[in-house]
Amino acid sequence: MTEIVVGVSTITALINSLQADTERGAALYLCYDAVSNRYLVHDIEIANEADVLSASEIEITFAPQFLTRITRRAREQKQHLALLHTHPKGATEFSLIDDATEFGLVEFIKKRIPDGDAFSMILCDGKLKARWFGTQESISVRQIGSIITFPATRNSEDENNERYDRQVRAFGEHGQRVLRNLSVVIVGLGGTGSVAVQQLAHLGVGTFILIDPDTVEETNLNRVVGTQPESVGKSKIDVASILIRTINPSAQVHIYADSVITESARRLMCSADCIFMCTDSHVSRAFLSEFAFQYLIPAFDIGVSITLRDNHVYAVTGRTQMLAPGLPCLLCSNALDARVIREELMTPEQRESDPYFNGGGGVNQPAVISINSTMVSLAVTMFLAAFTGTPVRARWQSYDALTGNVRVFATKPDPDCPICGANGVIAAGDSRHLSFLE
Ligand SMILES: [Zn+2]
Ligand SMILES: [Zn+2]
Repeated sequence: MTEIVVGVSTITALINSLQADTERGAALYLCYDAVSNRYLVHDIEIANEADVLSASEIEITFAPQFLTRITRRAREQKQHLALLHTHPKGATEFSLIDDATEFGLVEFIKKRIPDGDAFSMILCDGKLKARWFGTQESISVRQIGSIITFPATRNSEDENNERYDRQVRAFGEHGQRVLRNLSVVIVGLGGTGSVAVQQLAHLGVGTFILIDPDTVEETNLNRVVGTQPESVGKSKIDVASILIRTINPSAQVHIYADSVITESARRLMCSADCIFMCTDSHVSRAFLSEFAFQYLIPAFDIGVSITLRDNHVYAVTGRTQMLAPGLPCLLCSNALDARVIREELMTPEQRESDPYFNGGGGVNQPAVISINSTMVSLAVTMFLAAFTGTPVRARWQSYDALTGNVRVFATKPDPDCPICGANGVIAAGDSRHLSFLE
């Protein structure tokens, strides 16, 4: 299904710039992702006074120079174009005037951007509506922020399934339908990823994409859910697939036994609805954080650490954080360690010859299932809030097991952040090469 995907930070900018008693307008520039069939709203350009010939409560006429300028930019930047106007009086549908105006512009737009697609959009009461330019054929709009909204396809199957009765009582049939329609990526199927898989399968998530190159080792049996002594030597994604199918035989499972920083993994993740980041690798987390903003696919980062000093437990902490437009990325949350990233990217020879390498990568860190499960549970609750509208507001939490405190952090992105800031990578899609990707 073709979709237009837009970050809430973009919608907020449109709402703030276009407030008026009469209709106002803007051009939206979109990047197309062929894998997912999604158009990502990459940039906006507000029509100023000189760009509008006339405007009333029910009509707007753009100046030819505005239409010339925006079509030139779309053509030159090889982007697709949406012409947006507001309906200040609350009319949520396209009007007959809209039909007539677009009809008069179809040929012009086709000639000006022969290789691009064009859309018409209205902004009414903070909501966006879209259709192919000059037609009645509507396109659904997916909004990505701390709350994600998109129309869940209706499907009569297991609507009356008693299995989910207690959940439907909590977040309604719509919420349950959303879960069944979701495609969720889990990167890392170890101590946290396996617990996430178990919970998401019980919740009724319909499609799983599992990414992990590792096999189960004897030392994983203490915490990787779904493992048994016979699992040693088997791939972690196979163990997780069996766990999902045991819990919910109707779930779809796709597996990928390689690094997440590959073109194949990128393609798999592009058409997903969200990502659970259950990997310890700082390079993978940096990559996924950037990916989440660049492709408008929200992600949930989960991290746990048990620190020892002189062989005694010194700190037991966990963190979980949602990544989406309007929320900070891992870079401006200071959740990435540049030194660790540099070390992870080194070859064994480089490590050998580097005087600053502290050798931390080789030391096995302690890991305990109860702490892992605590953090995954917080992340999955956050995920439910984002997708089903459950009124849980936290989007960034830390846990201190020694004191028992869960802290909630304020979630303001750094406006100058090169990833999630105004000039960052939000919705850049394929127009930009992802860092770390070969
Ligand atoms: Zn209109
Ligand atoms: Zn950031």
